[in-house]
Amino acid sequence: MSDIKYNVELAPPDISAYRAGNTGVDYVTTFTASEPGPHVAVLGLTHGNEICGAITIDKLFRANIRPRRGKLTLGFNNVAAFLEFDARYPIASRYIDEDFNRLWAPATLDGPRSSAELQRARVMRPIVDSVDYLLDLHSMQHATAPLMLAGLLEKSRALARQLGIPELIMCDAGHAAGPRMRDYGGFGDPASPKTALLIEAGQHWEKRASEVATDVTLRFLMTLGTVLRDDVAALGGPDFDAHPPQKVIEVTEAVTITGNRFEFVEPYIGLEVIAKRGSVIGRDGDIEIRTPYDNCVLIMPSRRLVRGQTAVRLGRYVG
Ligand SMILES: [Zn+2]
Repeated sequence: MSDIKYNVELAPPDISAYRAGNTGVDYVTTFTASEPGPHVAVLGLTHGNEICGAITIDKLFRANIRPRRGKLTLGFNNVAAFLEFDARYPIASRYIDEDFNRLWAPATLDGPRSSAELQRARVMRPIVDSVDYLLDLHSMQHATAPLMLAGLLEKSRALARQLGIPELIMCDAGHAAGPRMRDYGGFGDPASPKTALLIEAGQHWEKRASEVATDVTLRFLMTLGTVLRDDVAALGGPDFDAHPPQKVIEVTEAVTITGNRFEFVEPYIGLEVIAKRGSVIGRDGDIEIRTPYDNCVLIMPSRRLVRGQTAVRLGRYVG
């Protein structure tokens, strides 16, 4: 892992000015319009080293973007991890104690355990509870096409199609290690109108990731009527007006690591399509991991090959 060299094109923004906020929760600010409307939230730094989200939110603050209706919350999740960011060791600051995005089950949030991330999740929870539409800004280890993670529910898939970018929408159940914020509460309940999306904007430290994160955010805010096009057009990047034909990848399973020694047979980066069913893609100790069907898509193979974590997810194009 340590021999991989990363090209860090992005610099972490100074977010100290946003610490006080106005919600009583550090690094969370809510703007309220006089017109009624939904509570829309854009959150970044769920993983402390995924700085494209912080760059996007910093841009919205600097441009004084305000909601035309309802509420707009801008927030930074795992600031403690982000503040450890060091461009010489960029993979080190994903979290302090544990993954903030595996804690979003009531039993975990209400439970007896404690960690830096659980403390932060508990403080954030009342705000997340009040959000109608959430966009959670992320980036990936490998430089592949951006992916919108829409979960399993049709409402999220429909919102991803309304946004119109990026090209790839991934429908997935998340991770065995625990639920993500985007799956929490009403977001994961088909009977609730609350809807969440998670964008994997590109490789963690490539400039392109911050452009994608920003354009997806602007399209999200426009789609929900929180802002008008003219309010945000000046912030738009290469994808601001893009309308690619969108494709959906349905994730059928996650390969969860069961042993102490997991390896892939090739240096996969993600979005490879393995033509033949039964092809060996990795070994979990003595267990061969084989593709379950023809034209199997590998999604976000991990470099953190640790027991209990997701090694890779498997899916197929459905349209
Ligand atoms: Zn992430």
